[in-house]
Amino acid sequence: MPQGEFELIARYFSRLGAERADVRIGVGDDGAVVMPPSSRELVVVMDSLLEGVHFPAGSPAASIGHRSFAVNLSDLAAMGAEPAWALLALTLPSADEEWLAQFSRAAGDLCRKHGVALIGGDTTRGPLAATVTMVGIAPIGVALERKGGQVGDAIFVSGSPGDSAAGLALEQGRLHVADAMSAQILRDRFLFPTPRCGIGVALRGLASACIDVSDGLGGDLEKLCAASGCGAEVDAAALPVSEALLSAVGREAAREYALTGGEDYELLFTVPLARLGAMTSAIARGLGPVKRIGSLVAGKGVKVFARGGVMQFSGSGFDHFAT
Ligand code: ADP
Ligand code: MG
Repeated sequence: MPQGEFELIARYFSRLGAERADVRIGVGDDGAVVMPPSSRELVVVMDSLLEGVHFPAGSPAASIGHRSFAVNLSDLAAMGAEPAWALLALTLPSADEEWLAQFSRAAGDLCRKHGVALIGGDTTRGPLAATVTMVGIAPIGVALERKGGQVGDAIFVSGSPGDSAAGLALEQGRLHVADAMSAQILRDRFLFPTPRCGIGVALRGLASACIDVSDGLGGDLEKLCAASGCGAEVDAAALPVSEALLSAVGREAAREYALTGGEDYELLFTVPLARLGAMTSAIARGLGPVKRIGSLVAGKGVKVFARGGVMQFSGSGFDHFAT
């Protein structure tokens, strides 16, 4: 990009996020230099957001700025790591100052909230895309994994899955909801998802396995099960669907959204029965919104029990009443 545009980038990205004492050299040199704490492991994640693929064309710049960092914070949360440093590869069709201001303000707000410093990146011209690399810190050997779940473990999920998929459907005009308040709540769940960093860190030593829900609860539970070598049974009536989703689409469709919708960025995790007491105490101490939805079982695959029968997850969605 031309020199003037680089000055623009420097203005918006040179001091984004938290100020951290462990950043010796940040944005502005050929590389960043950070000082990792001794006797800790670093957890490294990367996620891309492409216009037309991960967000509709014309999405608000603030939402793109928030989401490009939120999805990475969510991956670190799923690993039980404390977020620390980030790098941003940004591809822009043009250097639009108003767009950059809104993108960087939303990204900076979220990064400061989670103690993340932006330490570098790259800026190119092309179709709109944002790729963030984020590094988190965890004590040695305690990072959460998708594997580790055992038959009998309780399955929990945070927040209210399904809201984001309904919000995206609203954004794309595929869903129409009469109640404007519910519609706005659902849209915001898609545009500004909440990464569950505090919950992820608190689950170290408590959860046996963990994954964040980006592709839909059913599909991501199937991944956790495959990694853990077991199956899962979920009680449809226990799914924590929000009031907004319920009033927008009704109970049946709300469960469908919760199970198959994506982009929730909630945590899906398992807890051994022997640690359920500790889990209950953690919830009482303010862990955050989490709810038990089922159990790991012998075998493989995800089955959802509802009053009308059993639904079997089949890769892309649920077959009703399959056995
Ligand atoms: P070089 O050509 O040496 O790779 P650049 O001109 O690409 O350097 O980048 C200069 C500085 O600005 C580097 O510190 C780089 O990390 C940072 N930077 C470039 N783009 C971004 C961005 N989108 N976000 C954060 N830092 C960026
Ligand atoms: Mg260089």
